[in-house]
Amino acid sequence: MTQPSVSFEFFPPKSDAAEAKLWDAVNRLEPVDPLFVSVTFGAGGSTRDRTHRTVKRMVEETTLVPAAHLTCVDASRDEVHAVIEDYWQAGVKHIVALRGDSPDGMGEAFTPHPDGYKGSIELIEGIRAHRPELGKCFEISVAAYPEPHPDSRGWADDMAVLKAKQDAGADRAITQFFFNPDDYFRLLDEAEKAGITMPIIPGIMLQPNFKGLTRMAKMVQATLPDWLRDLYDGLDDDPETRDLVTANVAAELTRKLADQGVRDFHFYTLNRAGLALSTCRLLGLKPKPVPKAA
Ligand code: FAD
Repeated sequence: MTQPSVSFEFFPPKSDAAEAKLWDAVNRLEPVDPLFVSVTFGAGGSTRDRTHRTVKRMVEETTLVPAAHLTCVDASRDEVHAVIEDYWQAGVKHIVALRGDSPDGMGEAFTPHPDGYKGSIELIEGIRAHRPELGKCFEISVAAYPEPHPDSRGWADDMAVLKAKQDAGADRAITQFFFNPDDYFRLLDEAEKAGITMPIIPGIMLQPNFKGLTRMAKMVQATLPDWLRDLYDGLDDDPETRDLVTANVAAELTRKLADQGVRDFHFYTLNRAGLALSTCRLLGLKPKPVPKAA
């Protein structure tokens, strides 16, 4: 059986303490030899700079292949292209292209910048057309949703959008987190029927803070099953046990997916290494010595 491949998602740190935590996680996860590591992107100049600084440092100080997230939120096309150019100049050749959400929060209608891209499909086309000879060189990942996105108008529309992302030049999709493997396999079936051939990688959440997970799930309208609520019940003040529960839940989910032939996994690490490392081990991936970064 082929060796599984993994990727890890991080978010850019806001403080020195958070920065130290991120780099500890990055350094501990580098030896697992992920296919790529991605760094999220928020609205507003300072968050954008943090994403840029983080991916640039990954290029300079590690052997990792960073993928920088990019959204259409609150930015003109020129501003978006300035970010694409900055990524390229920093040596970042993989972009996770997203529409993003209204700065007023998810659930509020997304209003594009008057001179901006309207959504991820236009953004992908824009990346591919960026200094044309260069745009073609980017690897592009996009988002997909095992449970319908809050803006969804049904499976047919969602698959038409995902197919349009592929046709615009996306290389792979990464899913929103989910806890029921059947939701993911349904997405794969619907995608296949719609002629989508790019890989759709399951996004596995490693959030041990159940209150935080509940907030995230509410925002993205992901289902938290009753059995999961039961598992965390009464553990608000017991982070150690919550970590163990989270490790088991992730292990069980990845095992069920692997049993059905899934070989690629994307982990939402929350900038922590331990849970991702233990899940990778259970997938058969052990850390290897890291060659010195060039
Ligand atoms: P799309 O898939 O393009 O569209 C979202 C919804 O609108 C879908 O239901 C789709 O069917 C519908 N839709 C889109 N275009 C059309 C159309 N032309 N006609 C009709 N319906 C349409 N957000 C951030 O701000 N920063 C991040 O770093 C970030 N990283 C993410 C990483 C992953 C793996 C995922 C899954 C999500 C991430 N998000 C991030 C959240 C994402 O920005 C939101 O989910 C956003 O609401 C949708 O972005 P999208 O690119 O999926 O949009």
